[in-house]
Amino acid sequence: MADLETLVSLSKRRGFVFPSSEIYGGLGAVYDYGPLGVELKRKVRERWWQAMVYAHDNVEGIDAAILMHPTVWKASGHVDAFSDPMIDDRVSKKRYRADQLIENQIAKLEKDGKTDRAAALHAQFVDALNAEDATGPLYDLIIAQGIKSPDSGVADWTPVRQFNLMFETRIGAIAGEDDKIYLRPETAQGIFVHFKDVAETARQSIPFGIAQVGKAFRNEVVARQFVFRMREFEQMEMQYFVRPGTQMEAYAEWSEKRMAWHLANGIRPERLRWHQHEKLAHYADAAQDIQYQFPFGWNEVEGIHSRTDFDLSRHSEFSGKKLEYFDPQTQERFIPFVVETSVGLDRTILMLMADAYHQEEVGEGDKKEMRDVLRFHPALAPYTAAVFPLVKKDGMPERAHAIEADLRKQFNVFYDEKGAVGRRYRRQDEIGTPYCITIDGQTLEDGTVTVRERDSMAQDRIDASAVRRYVEDKVDAWTPPAAE
Ligand code: ATP
Repeated sequence: MADLETLVSLSKRRGFVFPSSEIYGGLGAVYDYGPLGVELKRKVRERWWQAMVYAHDNVEGIDAAILMHPTVWKASGHVDAFSDPMIDDRVSKKRYRADQLIENQIAKLEKDGKTDRAAALHAQFVDALNAEDATGPLYDLIIAQGIKSPDSGVADWTPVRQFNLMFETRIGAIAGEDDKIYLRPETAQGIFVHFKDVAETARQSIPFGIAQVGKAFRNEVVARQFVFRMREFEQMEMQYFVRPGTQMEAYAEWSEKRMAWHLANGIRPERLRWHQHEKLAHYADAAQDIQYQFPFGWNEVEGIHSRTDFDLSRHSEFSGKKLEYFDPQTQERFIPFVVETSVGLDRTILMLMADAYHQEEVGEGDKKEMRDVLRFHPALAPYTAAVFPLVKKDGMPERAHAIEADLRKQFNVFYDEKGAVGRRYRRQDEIGTPYCITIDGQTLEDGTVTVRERDSMAQDRIDASAVRRYVEDKVDAWTPPAAE
């Protein structure tokens, strides 16, 4: 598996992801997507939209603003409780999440074969998280376990404190306490406050869902894992409104669909798993995460949560507006229950890159060399095809440009006429381009071209006029290469 360093450097070198404002030294946990990254992100976003909105006649989309009325965040509970427990190392002055230090300790005990001790600590950890105030019990566990700071290697800790993750800003010209607003820490609330508008305007009846993709902001305490944990990131969320009592069916159905989506994107099944929440939010009646085995361990990519009627009830209470649903068939009025699916777009990108990265030795004898390949699903690869004239003369560039122009009607295409063809292939392998089309001497004679496939490196000779259709069919029929 690629380590994180390899992915970070590949991302920067080839233009997937750059650190934000790097010429000024960067900004912690903020990243910008380059030409290849933005394309990958756009394709993932569209694939999600296709799977959630287009594929379901009872799921509608919206696009709510990042700024919302501040009372939204009081009603949602974020002002009072959207915080992480943090602890500082007095020696290195570095800050850690107390819960993550304990999770790492559990993982370490498991890895060392001390399963009984790991299980005991896990039980104590769950108790601590469920305590009215988790800060004391979490601190006690860190001290009792003798957990040392990963930076300084000593255990000189401050007490555990809660740290609210919401970014604050001001609205309007006069700065005062009354003008304080927040950058949304999740997209979901924009959906809850429009539940009735969407039901009415889109003429939806229960069960139905509302989907949204957009930016969210969290002032994360610890942000050292590239685009896994950012302070500004993108979420793809769907809230599904159901009749109370039927939420478990919806929860099971959406859990299955969401796992299937990741698998259909070509993610290796052995690197995906379900993880049950240690601590259910007080309003949730079920919650689980889809975790991926990142280079730094198993971590959440997506959460599926059954949130009862908590959000709509709270917004009804705080706004004084009834957020109920009237069932014309049974003539009943009720507040729907909600099942949500919430996946991070940036975490999905990191997962796709980590999963697609592959290094292998190719060639024979003294032609042996290493190649780096990103084995993306062709529907997600930044470029679907690259077009090469073998040489920059004899009319080959003209023929190549004609094929390129035809492909561009449908796909993002890279044109390259510089250097040896082998080198051009390697460059495309490294960024995950699934098909390379080469125009050579034979093209001028019989109108055929070669199409070279990224994973198998096999070449097909086909008629130049059939290239676009050929690529389209291949993209549709693609299956991931066999596991190593
Ligand atoms: P974690 O425990 O890792 O902080 P979370 O449980 O707070 O995540 P949710 O609030 O359930 O995450 O958010 C839903 C999804 O949004 C997550 O599964 C993740 O993919 C994404 N996400 C959350 N926080 C971040 C972040 N700081 N950077 C990138 N993606 C994030």
